[in-house]
Amino acid sequence: MSRPRNESKFRLFMQENSLTLFTVTGVFIGGLIGFIIKNSTGPWTKREIMYISFPGELFLRMLKCLIVPLLVSSITSAIGGLDLSMSSKIASRSIIYYLLTTISAVILGICLVTTIKPGQGAKIEATHIESVDKASKVLTPDTLMDLVRNMFTDNIIQSTMFQYRTEIFENTTISPPLPMEEWDFKGAQREGSNVLGLVMFSVILGTTIGRMREKGQLLQDFFTTLSEAMMTITSWIIWISPLGVGFLIAAKIIEMDSIASTVQSLGWYFMTVMLGLFLHGFGTIAVIFFLGTRHLPYRYFAKLSQVLATAFGTGSSSATMPLTIKCLDNLGIDPRVTRFVIPVGATINMDGTALYEAVAALFIAQVRNINYSFGTIVAVSITATAASIGAAGIPQAGLVTMVMVLDTVGLEPKDVSLIIAVDWLLDRFRTTINVMCDALGTILVNHLSKKDLQKVDRLNAEPHELLELGANGHDTKE
Ligand code: ASP
Repeated sequence: MSRPRNESKFRLFMQENSLTLFTVTGVFIGGLIGFIIKNSTGPWTKREIMYISFPGELFLRMLKCLIVPLLVSSITSAIGGLDLSMSSKIASRSIIYYLLTTISAVILGICLVTTIKPGQGAKIEATHIESVDKASKVLTPDTLMDLVRNMFTDNIIQSTMFQYRTEIFENTTISPPLPMEEWDFKGAQREGSNVLGLVMFSVILGTTIGRMREKGQLLQDFFTTLSEAMMTITSWIIWISPLGVGFLIAAKIIEMDSIASTVQSLGWYFMTVMLGLFLHGFGTIAVIFFLGTRHLPYRYFAKLSQVLATAFGTGSSSATMPLTIKCLDNLGIDPRVTRFVIPVGATINMDGTALYEAVAALFIAQVRNINYSFGTIVAVSITATAASIGAAGIPQAGLVTMVMVLDTVGLEPKDVSLIIAVDWLLDRFRTTINVMCDALGTILVNHLSKKDLQKVDRLNAEPHELLELGANGHDTKE
């Protein structure tokens, strides 16, 4: 008797968790194949690596293609479906969570890097990277102002493809050279969606539709249906994730430099960031989650593992967003909460990135033997928070916004090249933490908003009930 029962339990478990198991297996098999190929055959050319990553690239392209329509339709329909007071309650709870977790991540990073001092006495060679040279010609005020400019987009169609960026030109013909403040500058458009602008626009559009009531119903239905259609496509793409993630990881491992030499020079730095991410993900977030819900979050980890594996494989919170929403829907989280907290969180809430920015800036200061005061540490905390908000949810975006944090410590922006060797790997881990914090934040905000949402549902149902009663009454009279 007990055997068939066990068998059916096993079958049920497999039915519910097969995709998660496949994706996690995809990560391990991809990693294993990558290591075997890397160690058994000679160096691989860029083209050969491109062939290997091709299936993964296709998976990534499919996910990326959903980002803009999903982001706009989800936020607009979520906010449009709520009244102003309810959406501001959800928004303020989310923003308090984002700020609380980001600031605690930065503080944790600073505590670790100043205690462990991974940069003291380290001898590291800087790698010359062209993109870093380009990024170096940026001033902190420009980076911050570009962030705000991007929030207030002047062209919503353009925002789906480009983002604003100030470019600075140094006049090298003048001697003595002009100070940076006197360099010429102009606004330019950089490739990549302006997600901040799209989020802001969708919030405002959703609020307006909500206020228009019946008149806005057509638009509300349109965005709700679009969001549902995107989720249906996501549920198809999800089935490719084990293969996609596996190929992406295998290609990345074949491409990377010798691990041994990297670990030798950057080992302590790597370990400090990893320890920080671990303590933040499993400690700080768990405490915040417990205080809000009276439950520990660990039981959700297994359920989120498919999303976490995808975040690790793609190194992109934005690309993982459709899967995160789908997974939270499956967990029974209210879609009105998920569709606001996840897209906004994937754009501005990056705890792992914030922690890494703080650690990396002070690590580079230690390598360069620069003494930093308490005032500098406070400035690093603020700029690291801003840098994580400004970083796009794409691979290694944190490295670009790091320039701003380095400027705070009085370091040359080019010094980011000191940590570039391990950045791709750290990026995977910090993206996983970014995505995990967004998902747990959604569960927390959902818990805190449950009663309010039920009240909204009751109030929405009442007019219909009255209407039905009225209609019934009329019918009876006739
Ligand atoms: N790759 C990270 C993300 O998408 C951003 C970063 O830290 O570079 O969340």
